[in-house]
Amino acid sequence: MLWKVIAVLGALLIFPARPASGSDFKKAVENLADYSFDSAAVAHVSDFELNLPYGMANFKEGKFYFCAFIDDEPTAMYFDGIGTFYYYPPDEIEIQQVRRFYDEDTLNLHFDRAYFAFADIKAWFDSLPKTESFNKPKYRTRTSWEQMIGIPDNAFKYDLPLNIVQARFDGQKRFLWADFADGKFNHTVYHFDPYDNEEISLFKYSPEFISPQLVSSYPADEPDWKKEIKRRCDLFRYDFDLELSTYARSDISCKMSLEVEQDSLKTVDFAFPDNYKIDRIWGDVLDSLSFFKKKDRPGLMIELSRVFHKGDTVTVGLDYRTNLFYHFIRFGVVQKRLTRWYPYQGYRQLSDYSMRYSLDKGYRFISVGDLVSDSVEGGRLIFHYATADPVAYISLNYGVFDSIEVKNPELPITIYILPGINDSPIFGNPNLEKTSEDVSGSFQFYREHFAPYRFKRLDVAAMAVMYGQGSPGVVHLPYIVFSRSLEGYDDKLRAHEVAHQWWGHIVNPATYRDVWLSEGLAEYSAAMYIEQGKKRPDIMWQVLNQWHKDIVESGKAYGKRSVGYKAGALFLGERLKSELSQGDFIVLIYSKAAYMLHMLRYEIETVPKRPGAFMEMLSEFAHRNYNKLTFTDDFIDLAREYLGERTDSFFDQWLFDWRIPKIKKGHEISKDGTAILNLEVKEVDADFASYYPVRFDFNNRTSIMVHYLVSSGENSFEFSPPPGKEITKVYFNPNKDILEK
Ligand SMILES: [Zn+2]
Repeated sequence: MLWKVIAVLGALLIFPARPASGSDFKKAVENLADYSFDSAAVAHVSDFELNLPYGMANFKEGKFYFCAFIDDEPTAMYFDGIGTFYYYPPDEIEIQQVRRFYDEDTLNLHFDRAYFAFADIKAWFDSLPKTESFNKPKYRTRTSWEQMIGIPDNAFKYDLPLNIVQARFDGQKRFLWADFADGKFNHTVYHFDPYDNEEISLFKYSPEFISPQLVSSYPADEPDWKKEIKRRCDLFRYDFDLELSTYARSDISCKMSLEVEQDSLKTVDFAFPDNYKIDRIWGDVLDSLSFFKKKDRPGLMIELSRVFHKGDTVTVGLDYRTNLFYHFIRFGVVQKRLTRWYPYQGYRQLSDYSMRYSLDKGYRFISVGDLVSDSVEGGRLIFHYATADPVAYISLNYGVFDSIEVKNPELPITIYILPGINDSPIFGNPNLEKTSEDVSGSFQFYREHFAPYRFKRLDVAAMAVMYGQGSPGVVHLPYIVFSRSLEGYDDKLRAHEVAHQWWGHIVNPATYRDVWLSEGLAEYSAAMYIEQGKKRPDIMWQVLNQWHKDIVESGKAYGKRSVGYKAGALFLGERLKSELSQGDFIVLIYSKAAYMLHMLRYEIETVPKRPGAFMEMLSEFAHRNYNKLTFTDDFIDLAREYLGERTDSFFDQWLFDWRIPKIKKGHEISKDGTAILNLEVKEVDADFASYYPVRFDFNNRTSIMVHYLVSSGENSFEFSPPPGKEITKVYFNPNKDILEK
């Protein structure tokens, strides 16, 4: 399958890497991979219509060339002629995305050629009269055809033949790849992938982009965003044996245990980094070479020894080699991939892990999991780690570190720092102290307010890169936060990464759409730590203003790579990384999601005057979803208990709609001292409604905050001051409780 998230970043393909091992499966894939156009069956069509979920193709006039036959059925078709492809985006979020990519709400696309690949179109094929026998196609037709069949592999890094054979084997007849092209360079690909949670994907591939862009993605049937994640098996356990080499390739042996969740499973597939060298596979596999992996292409498919059924356990192992580390003269070893250096499936899965590491002496070593044993064998350090409960992924780090223990009443926290950071014997390093204070302070703050911590220790390790990563029980921090302490930035970043121990590793976002549950919650938790834990509401105010600026003003964050809120709704999740404005993943999934949580806090805490209600809700959220895969709907269901009938309106406008309101404000004080307020709410849905705070200052230096429920359009309110008081000033939304332009 073509994993959504990977597709966005642009990579996944599986392909035979070696000579056929004699299996029918492999032979079928190979036959399909180099089928000939010369054996095509030709049909002349006019006004031929093909209905698809959310789409329709009208082949106005032209020829179908059917080829790539398996068992006398074609699995590919090239269309030479003219036609129109329509795509009707199934909801408002998708409409906005189609508009962003194509400047129209419903896709109405002229094409002058098309390439289809499918698992089964026997009925369609049989229904068409083959009007003429095959004639050698024109040069133009042939070159155009060759270019189009190369696109899945070259541009999408996707092995179409392999996936077709797999779909045929599994009886997944609806599998479809349809590329509609206008000229040589403008392609729109409509993909029905039966293995994806969201079967329908629409991609745009044209010269303005480096890689194909995911425009739209949706389930083929009525969406239930909280359904069980569709998967073929549950990868519940990993056993690793790693010979780590600092300067050369490391040898990795990885055994995976999977519980089968569907009948007739003959293959298992994984996301797997490109350029990793697999030596052999073992376990319940056909033979040591019955895997599909092409050099320079990510992804791995393994053919099993037999057909497995629901409830069976399958064990597959692979031995592979790769250079795991970068080297920096000053900073030592850094992992090239912090987390995805082994095969994995889907967006998130929770698995048990056991790891045996062997490495050169002279290094400090950090890994996810509990240390079971350590020893020295043959001059090398041997560490055995295991996780107590399933986790989302593992990461490791090693190098020449200094370390400090942070005093914490709850559990040991160790901070590993790069040498030279703490080298002033007289002055110490104030930034190291601040790092230690933020790590320990935010840890205490979350533990007290959210839920108990999951792991036995917390290791915090510096990395010579410019990003951070919160792994289970391990926080990787960029070295910059040890040598700098910008308030509202570095303190937030430290607290953000620590917050992932709760939002990310206690509550695990289930799908690519739910990623705000880890990033948005981590970001807002970090801000609350600054506000309440560090008691610096002034810095929180700066943070809120920075979020506002990034969301509202195009190009403020990440230069031209950001258009702010206009990029789309929060529920697009990882899809906000599109090439149109890659910076908006952070602007929206971190900053706007945090701002949404700020507004939620305003609505459930400030408006009804229930201090602490928001924190109570977050704690409940962590407890209810402890160590589970969690969906956006789980959050909304809980919020409903606090927000009541405001719930749907609130999330519809801030999570599922991309727009934010422009509010025109005016007031006048009448002769009797009454304030008349006029608020016009514009640029949002007609159903928009929100509480909106207005502060009235009085002549005796007191003031009052009133929360008005405003709706889209004109709103008018009257406010009479208490007896003896005179209104001197009126402030609208003075604390930025509501996000507006
Ligand atoms: Zn994060």
